[in-house]
Amino acid sequence: MSEHGTCAVCGSEIPGPFSGGHCNSCHQGFNSNYADGLHRRGEYGNPKNPRRCLTPDEMRERGMSLNTRGLWVSKALRPESLTEIQGANSSGVQDDL
Ligand SMILES: [Zn+2]
Ligand SMILES: [Zn+2]
Repeated sequence: MSEHGTCAVCGSEIPGPFSGGHCNSCHQGFNSNYADGLHRRGEYGNPKNPRRCLTPDEMRERGMSLNTRGLWVSKALRPESLTEIQGANSSGVQDDL
């Protein structure tokens, strides 16, 4: 047993604690803790603004997208930043594939 593995409920891969996470509520995977945080709305114990997860459609509306591993990323989808990211990580991307 380890913290890394698959979700017992949905069977998805769970990224490590410092490389994102897997939501126990909506069972989406996230490429970073920041992206994980972005998909949560509201506050615990606040009936006017209850804690909940964004749906995939709502996440896309906020500029989030799925990466090649099927994990949500928080990047703004500006063409120039995508080019930068792909150029900077080209070797890493190939390793992932
Ligand atoms: Zn969630
Ligand atoms: Zn799950």
